[in-house]
Amino acid sequence: MTLASNLGFPRIGRRRELKTALEAFWSGDTGAAELEASAAALRTRHWKLQAGAGIAHVPSGEFALYDHVLDTACMLGAIPPGYGWSEGKVSLSTYFALARGTSAADAPGLPAMEMTKWFDTNYHYLVPRLSAGQRFTLTSNRPLEQFREAMALPMRTRPVLLGPVSFLLLSKTTDGSDPLDLLDALLPVYAQILAELAEAGAAWVQMDEPVLALDLTDKARQAFVRAYQAFTTAPEILLTSYFGPLGGNLATAATLPVAGLHIDLVRGAAELDAVLDALPPERWLSLGIVDGRNVWRTDLRTALATLRRVAAVRGTRRLMVAPSCSLLHVPVDLAQESALDADVKGWLAFATQKLDEVAALARGLDEGDTAIAAQLAASDAAVRARQASPRVHRTEVAVRLTGATETMRQRTSPYAQRREAQQAKLRLPLFPTTTIGSFPQTAAVRQARAALVRRNITHETYETTIEGWIDDAVRWQEELGLDVLVHGEFERNDMVKYFGEQLSGYAFTQHGWVQSYGSRCVAPPIIWGDVSRPAPMTVRWSAYAQSKTDRPMKGMLTGPVTMLQWSFVRDDIPRSETCRQIALAIRDEVTDLEAAGIAVIQVDEPAFREGLPLRHADWAAYLDWAVACFRLATCCVRDDTSIHTHMCYSEFNDIMPAIADMDADAISIETTRSRMELLDAFVPGQGGGTAGYPAEIGPGVWDIHSPRVPDTREMVELLGLARQRLEDWQIWVNPDCGLKTRKWEEVRPALKSLVDAAREVRRQAAI
Ligand code: GLN
Ligand code: ZN
Repeated sequence: MTLASNLGFPRIGRRRELKTALEAFWSGDTGAAELEASAAALRTRHWKLQAGAGIAHVPSGEFALYDHVLDTACMLGAIPPGYGWSEGKVSLSTYFALARGTSAADAPGLPAMEMTKWFDTNYHYLVPRLSAGQRFTLTSNRPLEQFREAMALPMRTRPVLLGPVSFLLLSKTTDGSDPLDLLDALLPVYAQILAELAEAGAAWVQMDEPVLALDLTDKARQAFVRAYQAFTTAPEILLTSYFGPLGGNLATAATLPVAGLHIDLVRGAAELDAVLDALPPERWLSLGIVDGRNVWRTDLRTALATLRRVAAVRGTRRLMVAPSCSLLHVPVDLAQESALDADVKGWLAFATQKLDEVAALARGLDEGDTAIAAQLAASDAAVRARQASPRVHRTEVAVRLTGATETMRQRTSPYAQRREAQQAKLRLPLFPTTTIGSFPQTAAVRQARAALVRRNITHETYETTIEGWIDDAVRWQEELGLDVLVHGEFERNDMVKYFGEQLSGYAFTQHGWVQSYGSRCVAPPIIWGDVSRPAPMTVRWSAYAQSKTDRPMKGMLTGPVTMLQWSFVRDDIPRSETCRQIALAIRDEVTDLEAAGIAVIQVDEPAFREGLPLRHADWAAYLDWAVACFRLATCCVRDDTSIHTHMCYSEFNDIMPAIADMDADAISIETTRSRMELLDAFVPGQGGGTAGYPAEIGPGVWDIHSPRVPDTREMVELLGLARQRLEDWQIWVNPDCGLKTRKWEEVRPALKSLVDAAREVRRQAAI
């Protein structure tokens, strides 16, 4: 019999109950017992939900209060010194200190552990910090505790562990040693965890090894062999890879002495035949055929055909059907979305619905089409409606896309010439000052937007309110002496949502939350149809702001790659095609801004680097279309209009040629924390031996992630470091990023220091 199985369920709860519980605990309103009780209630609800949907292998132990990688590090005793742990179970206060740091009030303040993106998802994990000679010890067997908790229901679950090789490769060492060298020290602890699980009656354990989707060294592949040879006793191990094909790691993964292998059949569909060839017949094969990280309904008939092809080769005795990866990355339940467009809703499936799909597919494979006739009919109808929808596939968008020629991606003149035209028009001093766009989103700002949405105020009142804030912002930017002003982005709820709401082809959910990190959730927009821009989106505000000043007012847009990257995207056309559609929509906006007298236009691309594919071999193709989309969005302006871009913190070394190829006139980046080291990539001969960055650069001189207000001296010092790496004419003076999360009490003095710092550096340069 085919087993319906799941790899992981969202922890946060359909109404973000975990967020509420965590925040109540952090603020001191509730105690540890209440937090643990809320967490346990969520686990129970989710286990029952999965079992009720017909899932035979329900995962447990993948639940984490904050992050599953942090849980693993804590379980293994890999806890940096200074956080109050010496042995035994890790306390909640140590756990949250590692996750979030402690404030300086509980002196001495502890920094949170570093956080980074979980593969190419928008989930972030805490990076374990290890060092040579690291000792590991089992502090408490968390999967075992959750397994027992489920047994009490009673339910026999499948415990989930982050596998040892992935754990090590996702860690960082503080001393430059290779984390893989710690494998031998780590394996006995894993063996102990497994033995205890077997003893408690676990038949299967799911070992997540997502690093199998990355380019691995021979040493890493050898580590897999060593690790899994060490776990030969019960329970049965299901080795799970996901987020991509196994590629060069297939031979290793397929021959490890484990009971079964899970593959991502969504992203790794092309690899299926190779897997069928390589995997010994006595192994279980778990087919991740329901997309675990996107929101679309599965085409059950097509999926079933694929499953039957596998069954024809291997039989159904050792088959599992599953989502491609943990459902952590999709919202909990579509049924809550009462306001979604009815057509669009019919094409979607969130975590709860995906469980039904998995169960239906397993049943259909065993019992035939008639056993799941109703599900098949509903799926067929949805597939047909989506394919045929004239709202999804719009002729005018297709026509425009075909008409997007190479010349539309080219500025009229090369940068050197544009610089002259822009200089003549803007007359900016050396080291011009500006900000990245947003000003504080105060309670009043958010209330005004909320009131408009709830229709508590009229559109006119709303507009005059925003205009009042713009008036103030313009006035004090002039008073401070900033050179290129911004309007402040008061009208924007979010840099993607604001635009998505005004574009065709986008939908927004009410409860479509997915965990970003800890208690923080995002509700990404869903791009469901061809994208176009029915009307200008920002021109009204930018033109108003420009009318209030003689200084240049910078127009502010979100770039096509970021619009794509921070949304759920269509699975019926390539990402690159959607991105080009968005690029054309942004291009319309750029054109209109220029026509409205805006001479500096910033197109933000903070997600540009995070779009890089997991495997190096796929980078060039991505960079190619990503750069082309940015150019398509921006190369419509005159020589004397200056195009800026902004990218937050990024490692630019390995992608410098692509950054230069975007052909912006200026780029601003986050450089304060790295003390300008990130700028090395922009220096000729560095950054992979490139020609350097040919245009202007605004290296951030104020770390806006901290409430600390830096003084002029610090900024002058940073600018000195920048001047060692760049030509004076290249340098802009600006904060690291937008100021929406800061307070006015911080913004005013910090920007005053920034303007003073620019003046001081101008003096130094004149000597
Ligand atoms: N213009 C945006 C702002 O200032 C940029 C934000 C970002 O890069 N994440 O808020
Ligand atoms: Zn930024």
